[in-house]
Amino acid sequence: MTTVTHLTSGLVIAKVVNSFFSQPLQPEHVIVISAAFALLPDVNLLWHRKLKSHHDDFTHYPAAWIAISGILFIASSFLGLLLFVNTMLHLILDTFGFTIGVKLLAPFNKREYSFTNLERDKADWSLKEKCRFLLKNPGRLNMELGINLLFISFLIFF
Ligand SMILES: [Zn+2]
Repeated sequence: MTTVTHLTSGLVIAKVVNSFFSQPLQPEHVIVISAAFALLPDVNLLWHRKLKSHHDDFTHYPAAWIAISGILFIASSFLGLLLFVNTMLHLILDTFGFTIGVKLLAPFNKREYSFTNLERDKADWSLKEKCRFLLKNPGRLNMELGINLLFISFLIFF
C-alpha cells in the first residue's frame, strides 16, 4: 500500500480512539501520534536500498512490533496499544500490495503472504514506474483508491 493509505489508516484509528475511548492525551496529539505510528513500519525506506525489498527486514515483521508495543505498553498502556493497532493494520494493508507480500511469521518462517497476485518483477521499479503501472491497471488502482475512499468516508461521516 502507499504512504497515503497508511496515513489515512492512522487517521481512522485516531478518530476511533478519540470518539469511542477515554484516553490520556489531547485528541490532536492522538491524531499526530497515530499517523506517525501508522507510517513507522516504512521507516526502513530510509535504508532499504541495501535490502531486496523494504518488506525484508524487522520493520515488516509482526513479531517485532508485538515486542516493541509490549515494551512501550509497560511505560504507557495507551501508547503501546496505539502502536500495536497501527503497525498491525499497516502490515495487513501491505499484504494487499501488488509487488511484494509480508512475511507475517518472520523471523520464524520467511514465507511471504499476500491477498493479491504478486507481480514480483515490478518490485524493483521506482515509485514513478509503479504509479504509471497503477494508472494503466485499473483493478490494482481501484483497490488502493477503494481502501482510501473507505477510510476517508469514515473520517468524514462518522
Ligand atoms: Zn509497509
